[in-house]
Amino acid sequence: MKKLIYFIVMLLIFPFASCNISKPEKVKIAKKKRQPNVILMIGDGMGLSEVSSTFYYGNRKPNFSRFKEIGLNNTSSADKKITDSAASGTALATGKKTYNGAIGLDADSLIVPNLVEVLSNLEYNTAIIATSSITHATPASFFAHVKQRKMEYDIAEQLPKTEVDFFAAGGLKYFTNRDDGKDILKSLVENGFALNDTINYHFDISKKYAYILAEDALPSMLDGRGEFLSEYTQHALNYLSMSDKPFFVMIEASQIDWGGHAKNADYLISEMLDFDKTIGTVMDFAEQDANTLVIVLADHETGGFTLATDNGDYGKIKPTFCTGGHSTTLIPVFAFGPGADNFKGIYENTNIFDKIIQITE
Ligand code: MG
Ligand code: ZN
Repeated sequence: MKKLIYFIVMLLIFPFASCNISKPEKVKIAKKKRQPNVILMIGDGMGLSEVSSTFYYGNRKPNFSRFKEIGLNNTSSADKKITDSAASGTALATGKKTYNGAIGLDADSLIVPNLVEVLSNLEYNTAIIATSSITHATPASFFAHVKQRKMEYDIAEQLPKTEVDFFAAGGLKYFTNRDDGKDILKSLVENGFALNDTINYHFDISKKYAYILAEDALPSMLDGRGEFLSEYTQHALNYLSMSDKPFFVMIEASQIDWGGHAKNADYLISEMLDFDKTIGTVMDFAEQDANTLVIVLADHETGGFTLATDNGDYGKIKPTFCTGGHSTTLIPVFAFGPGADNFKGIYENTNIFDKIIQITE
């Protein structure tokens, strides 16, 4: 009797045990989806007219036309309606408005963590590419913390110990030609960087790579910079793709802004076309990868640039500047990939940081 009760209880507990005893069950192990890569592309000084110039002066359909999710952002700093590139770079890199001139500090001069620091803690590898010196305001906002942007020797000194894994830009003199006699190139090597290793670009993911390719800024496109921006963007993507970890890249077309300051339309437009080409390199990668968020924007507009009529002739464009400084027009934001939806609408430049964090955590 006892045995019979036991048998009935077992049947109730394991109703299918008798008919399916030897077949192992296929357990689906859900593979954790890698966090998306993030590529942030900044055209310094690039307002809507600057973007528009690629539609009238290039010899191909602009890569800007590959984006479907578009928003607008307000770039004013904590203390000025019109921002400089330090305050707006810091807003993008840290999500905090600050005073004009500040790098990686908030309005009270307190250190705030930047995207390279925050994302490294989330196991991201990181890269920075710019056509200025690496110590210039925009790239510096992504790794350094100083009170004034002009402290470029201090910014260089901070770089070796940061979480940056790959960088390409100019600025050699800030590393080697210093009043304090320090050799910051040596310090880069001591901290695991291979320096200007241009032999075939055979990357090793266990190493870090530093490319400092000019004394100060790189040459302009008009002065023969060539394919630097798109080529080093491709190198960074090749290197970062060797790892299973996700990555963050900041790419800056620094000199669009300098064309605006110089009120030089040829300078500005040639830098825009170079940036558009680099957007193509990035979009080719992102479309294939299908887990990469691309964001293209500016830190502010420069020059009050317009594509105006030439003395009433609507068949001719006369590129025109109304200032040699910055302007505070809203700045377009182009997004593609996972989370791109979130970049629609009108918001503050600091919200870019928040939106990136939202998708990477
Ligand atoms: Mg800049
Ligand atoms: Zn500027």
